[in-house]
Amino acid sequence: MPKQILKAHKVRLYPNEEQQVFFAKSFGCTRFIWNRMLADKIQHYQDTKTELKNTPAQYKKEFDWLKEVDSLALANVQQNLKAAYNKFFKGSGFPKFKKKGQRDSYTTNNQKGTVAITANSVKLPKTGHIKAKFPAKITGLIKSATVSKEPTGKYFVSLLVETMVEPLPKTHSNIGIDLGLTDFIVLSDGSKVANPKFLSKLQARLAKEQKILAKRREVAKTANRKLSESRNYQKQKVKVAKVYEKITNKRRDFLHKLSINIIKNHDVIAIEDLNVKGMVKNKKLAKAISDSSWSAFTTVLAYKAEWYGKELVKIDRWYPSSKTCSGCTHVLTKADLPLSVRSWNCPSCLQKNDRDINASINILNEGLRLATLKTVDATGLA
Ligand SMILES: [Zn+2]
Repeated sequence: MPKQILKAHKVRLYPNEEQQVFFAKSFGCTRFIWNRMLADKIQHYQDTKTELKNTPAQYKKEFDWLKEVDSLALANVQQNLKAAYNKFFKGSGFPKFKKKGQRDSYTTNNQKGTVAITANSVKLPKTGHIKAKFPAKITGLIKSATVSKEPTGKYFVSLLVETMVEPLPKTHSNIGIDLGLTDFIVLSDGSKVANPKFLSKLQARLAKEQKILAKRREVAKTANRKLSESRNYQKQKVKVAKVYEKITNKRRDFLHKLSINIIKNHDVIAIEDLNVKGMVKNKKLAKAISDSSWSAFTTVLAYKAEWYGKELVKIDRWYPSSKTCSGCTHVLTKADLPLSVRSWNCPSCLQKNDRDINASINILNEGLRLATLKTVDATGLA
């Protein structure tokens, strides 16, 4: 059965000067209304211990210029603020004020064609047609559009489109995936996927450019110059942003290709549920990027499995996947298996275990056990 999904398409925009001015206004107004509504909510709560139900419309009288931007953009701020509060009530951090210079964006909704596309343009409320470059053909109903200006100065619109997808055929093959220590991932079929080479190269370049940026910050500080007025600093900031953007794009391509390949070839996919929130914050850039790659990878796997009718099973992160022998389920002690040990012989059944492959086989077995509990046909057990 085909399934209706929401798919985001990121499209590069080339706004003319007038459109750029409109975007700048929209970013400013949405940031302003977010901060203002949040500040008033906080004040109201301090005064009355009750929640203030404020709306953007209430502010339009006092701040006339809010009428110049798309009213749906302001309505979406209200929605987002509500969502941020709900998250806070569920244990996340308190909503933060937005600062100028962060990634600018605003979201509008398509109301009977207010957002539309042609072969080379995107039409948004109050902007007319904006020149655009589509990476792929977009079909389906556009639900919303989020315009953003990246730190590199590039404009994009992310179009959320209702699309039908067909489930992928069953393969009767299942797989366990372990986050490798030296490789990006290690699979229970014995294959390993290395960390892409471009990452380490770009990471080195990023580190270099960031060092230069830090120096320029110091120079401006010593000369008592504002960073916003230091041209060298600003130029370098864009340079750093460009390297970041490259890493993000290349990594996204890599993760998409890898994940769709895994989804196509397997029915049940078992992975470790690494709680990224619980991961130790690491100051080392390379480590931080690989950690975020892993969480991005599991996110992509999760929604693709959902789209294409496959099953993703997450294994509790405390499950001893490395220390258990996949041959006989004998469990080593922590002292028996320091991180430096890449392979080990099971003292019980004498099987030789490659550390990571053994772990991914255990992840698969545990995944299949959990999947079977959920009454899933576990044929093709490895
Ligand atoms: Zn064994």
